[in-house]
Amino acid sequence: MNSRIGHGYDSHRLVEGRKLILGGVEIPFEKGLMGHSDADVLCHAITDALIGALGLGDIGMHFPDTDPAWKGADSIYLLGKIVEKVSDMGLKVGWLDATVLAEQPRIASYINRMKERLSSTGIPQGRINIKAKTAEGMGPVGRSEGMAAYAVCLLDVIPLN
Ligand code: MG
Repeated sequence: MNSRIGHGYDSHRLVEGRKLILGGVEIPFEKGLMGHSDADVLCHAITDALIGALGLGDIGMHFPDTDPAWKGADSIYLLGKIVEKVSDMGLKVGWLDATVLAEQPRIASYINRMKERLSSTGIPQGRINIKAKTAEGMGPVGRSEGMAAYAVCLLDVIPLN
């Protein structure tokens, strides 16, 4: 097997009194995502895609929300722990593609900064693609009750010399 594929999905509610963190970037907005950690929905979807490709279950098994250690946790740090596991298992990120669903604020102008922050975990910046979409006013995301994110990744086996 030369490659593995992984898929991740996450969603969080939008509430008042929280910072909005997406892809490790703080975005000015009147509300933020609710969660045990910093609730970075994009990081969580990407982390779950990597965990899926590793065959290691899901993000909740690695960073349980019942564990006080992860309260308010920086999700870039959690992602970095999983990227370490990727290389420990002799793999590297071949490609990562993610979609954030958010009705507001418009986040397209923050995507390059998100890619920079995500690459600080060791994923090469040139192998990350992020897309931002609205839900066209439909459903819970369309009513700005929350945000969601999807991610797929390809992990390649690092060839042994
Ligand atoms: Mg989450």
